[in-house]
Amino acid sequence: MNKLAYLLLGSNLGDRAARLAQARADLAATTGNIVAASSLYETAAWGLEDQPAFLNQVLAVETELDGPTLLTACQAAEQQQGRERLVHWGARTLDVDILLLGQEIIATPTLSVPHPALPARRFALVPLAELAPQLVHPQLHRTIAELLAACPDELAVRRYAA
Ligand code: ADP
Ligand code: MG
Repeated sequence: MNKLAYLLLGSNLGDRAARLAQARADLAATTGNIVAASSLYETAAWGLEDQPAFLNQVLAVETELDGPTLLTACQAAEQQQGRERLVHWGARTLDVDILLLGQEIIATPTLSVPHPALPARRFALVPLAELAPQLVHPQLHRTIAELLAACPDELAVRRYAA
């Protein structure tokens, strides 16, 4: 059965917009149809602030994959662009996170869905709210628009014009 997955793409190294475009092509080939894509947004780096700003985008993907298989596909897209996991929260060519997978709740050591940081991060909520403001978070039972309005994160998230 197809589910709608929301994936968050992020890049802050090299030609960031080209990296997101390559990620869309790779993920369309491995995960399923991209039925919607948010605008690109630029955000100052979160966590470790002495690094280039990120470009972020959320994709809605219609997928038959289960959570672990979808995570493997996301990580393959990262590897495709030479991602190395050197520093937690450090600069990266490409990061692909699963924000939501239908209304599924997954809690394993390697995969948490919905993504636990979603309610705390404007760079995820802003593009997600562009696509699905009325979507209800399966654990918090609040809409994405409500979570965004209540989000304490103060990092500016600006729409990015290439
Ligand atoms: P981060 O995205 O937090 O900056 P990484 O991309 O290096 O860090 O991911 C670290 C680990 O997070 C991955 O190896 C993966 O097993 C785990 N993980 C848990 N839940 C998720 C999720 N919803 N989406 C992506 N990765 C996840
Ligand atoms: Mg990640």
